[in-house]
Amino acid sequence: MKCSIQGCPGEYEKKLVFHTLIYGNEIFIFEHVPTEVCSVCGDTLLKPDTVLRLKVFCRKQVSQKDLCFCMNMHSRRTAQSLSA
Ligand SMILES: [Zn+2]
Repeated sequence: MKCSIQGCPGEYEKKLVFHTLIYGNEIFIFEHVPTEVCSVCGDTLLKPDTVLRLKVFCRKQVSQKDLCFCMNMHSRRTAQSLSA
């Protein structure tokens, strides 16, 4: 699929990436999140149902306060955020 950024000649490629999500007072870092990333400008597309799954996962984590696995994604709590 062609990149949606104006003037960018790139195409989106399916990739598994890190994704950081802030939920309540917690920062979640997910690994292996399925996204589409532009090969030229690096613009990232997350499908709405992927975002929803991440949020549901965060809500469970915040309410249960323990570790569990959700699909093939996992997260760890950390105070650091990814700069990349
Ligand atoms: Zn692009």
